Amino acid sequence: MIVGQYTEAMEKRALFGLNLAELTGLMEALGQKPYRARQLFEAIYRQRVTSLDAVTTLPERLREQLSAGGWDVGLPVMAQTAVSVDGTERYLMRMADGETVETVWMPDGDGGERGDGSEAAEEEAGEVQSAAEAVAGGKSSFWERRANGRDRPNFGTLAEMGFRRATICISSQVGCAVNCQFCLTAKLGIRRNLTAGEIAGQVAAVLNRHRIQVGKDRINLVFMGMGEPFLNYDEFMKSVRLLVEGVGVPESRMTVSTSGILPGIEAFAGEAVRPKLALSLNASNDQVRAQIMPITRKWEIAQLLEAVRKIPLRTREWVTFEYVLLGGVNDRPQHAREVLRLLAGMRAKVNLIVWNPGPGIDYHQPEPKDVAVFQKMLIEGGVATYIRRPRGRDIYAACGQLKRTVAEDAGLVAIGS
Ligand code: SAH
Ligand code: SF4
Repeated sequence: MIVGQYTEAMEKRALFGLNLAELTGLMEALGQKPYRARQLFEAIYRQRVTSLDAVTTLPERLREQLSAGGWDVGLPVMAQTAVSVDGTERYLMRMADGETVETVWMPDGDGGERGDGSEAAEEEAGEVQSAAEAVAGGKSSFWERRANGRDRPNFGTLAEMGFRRATICISSQVGCAVNCQFCLTAKLGIRRNLTAGEIAGQVAAVLNRHRIQVGKDRINLVFMGMGEPFLNYDEFMKSVRLLVEGVGVPESRMTVSTSGILPGIEAFAGEAVRPKLALSLNASNDQVRAQIMPITRKWEIAQLLEAVRKIPLRTREWVTFEYVLLGGVNDRPQHAREVLRLLAGMRAKVNLIVWNPGPGIDYHQPEPKDVAVFQKMLIEGGVATYIRRPRGRDIYAACGQLKRTVAEDAGLVAIGS
């Protein structure tokens, strides 16, 4: 193979990921007026073009100039697609350097916004999940629709598929450094941070696939895929601003989940534009938490909760506490009592997540009756508590199951491309 001379211009430079100020700088460097940057910004984020040719507001010569300089839109590529029986889709997204992450599409929502007291409440009725169903793998509204003869082919728009809304679960890093013992992503270790463009680009790619009209279709975003967003804080927050100002998704429809990175939570409290917060509590005391989340040795529960209490909450905003139930480890009644003491006086809701198994991880799922008792105790203690519906377990798309090689591991055949 003959390897040609490397020149900088051969490397594709992604426009997707640049904010308006950066695009303005680029236009100025090319001797263009600032309004050209605004046109490019609109085309990339609002219209979600996938190639420079489609930016018809720019003169052809300028597009050629950009192209000659190595610039392209540069969205992540959907390298593989797996579709679950419940309508969930898992995508392997390939970045320019060949690294891959996973992104998940969950029509009907995944309950990430459940119990937030907003207008979403009435939509949530269908999401409420019994403990037995959660352990068994979840009641599937997709299956129900199918049984009712209202099934639609996949890959359609929300309306074509008969869904009212969808949630997109986004990755923030390639792998993760946090090493939670119950999580499959942890097995990858950390490979690198994603850039803001790569984070927001996952959203644009999925919106394009389903031909979503932001503003008309109801889309929620959860930063709950691979990685720890608060260990990639600046790029994560930049992606949020691109998604709000550019793509047009309101921040009230976004939730970021953190394993408890104290400096990140403190910085987050001071952000003018920010998603809602979810904290992966996962245990009711530091001893148990340190066993399953070693990061607890760095920042204890009390410190995390103190920082969370300082976040100025907006109208109708609640902080979500995620709690992965591991059979025999953190699912006893005494743990529920401790959780109630921890959350006393906070505008908090709890999302119970039945642990999703993964190869090589030695935990057990909780007994359905223990899940039910846990939920009941929290509710009776005055905390809104929901059991999160597991989505796409059959395609390894559920919480904590995201790992690049898993389709092969599980012998699943990816379909589509
Ligand atoms: N890194 C961030 C966000 C991604 S993980 C965080 O940890 O918060 C999203 C959620 O999935 C977290 O609440 C995490 O505790 C949970 N999770 C991880 N592995 C899981 C598994 N195997 N089963 C169920 N939930 C899991
Ligand atoms: Fe990382 Fe979150 Fe998995 Fe922990 S649960 S290893 S923080 S992705």
